[in-house]
Amino acid sequence: MVTGSLGSCNLIDTSARQPQSPRTSKYNMSGSTTLSSEESPAYVRQFSNHPHADIILRTRDSHEFRVPKVYIIDSSPILTDLIRTSPCPSNPNAVQGISTDAGTSLPVVQLSDSSCILSSLLSFIIPVAAHLPSTAVEDTMELLSTAQKYEMDLVLTRIRDHLARQNPPLIRGENAFYVYSLAQKYGLRREVDQAARLTLKVPMSIEVLESTGKLDVLSGALLHQLWDYHERVQEYLASDLTTFMMFGIGPRINFRCIKLSSSDVPIWLNDYINSVAMNPALFNLSEFHMALTRHVIPSSSHSSRCCQSCASIGSATIDTFWTALSDVVQHSIENEPRRFCLLQV
Ligand SMILES: [Zn+2]
Repeated sequence: MVTGSLGSCNLIDTSARQPQSPRTSKYNMSGSTTLSSEESPAYVRQFSNHPHADIILRTRDSHEFRVPKVYIIDSSPILTDLIRTSPCPSNPNAVQGISTDAGTSLPVVQLSDSSCILSSLLSFIIPVAAHLPSTAVEDTMELLSTAQKYEMDLVLTRIRDHLARQNPPLIRGENAFYVYSLAQKYGLRREVDQAARLTLKVPMSIEVLESTGKLDVLSGALLHQLWDYHERVQEYLASDLTTFMMFGIGPRINFRCIKLSSSDVPIWLNDYINSVAMNPALFNLSEFHMALTRHVIPSSSHSSRCCQSCASIGSATIDTFWTALSDVVQHSIENEPRRFCLLQV
């Protein structure tokens, strides 16, 4: 992944987010201030000398990006309209244009975005090394939201492809609740869905959420929505896994088990699959092997005897079973039919 030296607005150069120094400020013809290119951070300077620049994009923190507008017009109908239709109070023939004090007369379009976000966004539009705004998840969410705001469908795909190659992934089990909250805040439906699915790796109980600090990142409305989602997934899982145990070949991994269900599924496996339906967070190989171990080596004196037969189940058999179970779980989660609405948080 390319997140090179230009990429970390927070880590490398925070000047874009700091109040500008009077020494480096300039006044343009509109009376607003701009920052000199020499004093700009590297992620701004990379867009200061494009040989074919014919427009200036000015950010809310007063940095200017000189770029060929053909890239912008090709990428965003929203920015195209802004460039073409915004009136210019001082020059009706220009497009929201004002002359800069650098001796150029390029039109200027004022944007509400920060230089950190715009620099990253432009890196996915103009042929330079693509970079994310920073290592902070929220900055990446804001970048996606900005591309979505400008209806940059292709750019959104590029950014998401870029993110998909990250290791570790942007959205993962340990930050799923936080990302879910951010994705709702920034109106990113795809990321809302991705994060919601990953929250299934965590048991949905108030005690667990409170002890792991996850309640701190969720509003009451978001918690309620996620709670409903978990319940719906459990309903689908319960139905699909019941069918799997009755008719699937996978669960019949050992007919010689000392205790089989009426469907010829080892009871310990029957119990494990039922527990996954109740709590999808138990769907992982560690929990599976723990269930097998408890059956093979019972710890309680009340247990009858060890099951030598299940102790000798081969790894290939377990792999086949796990693949079949994974398909069922995946299918249930992906076919959970109700989609999330985006909430105002
Ligand atoms: Zn057994």
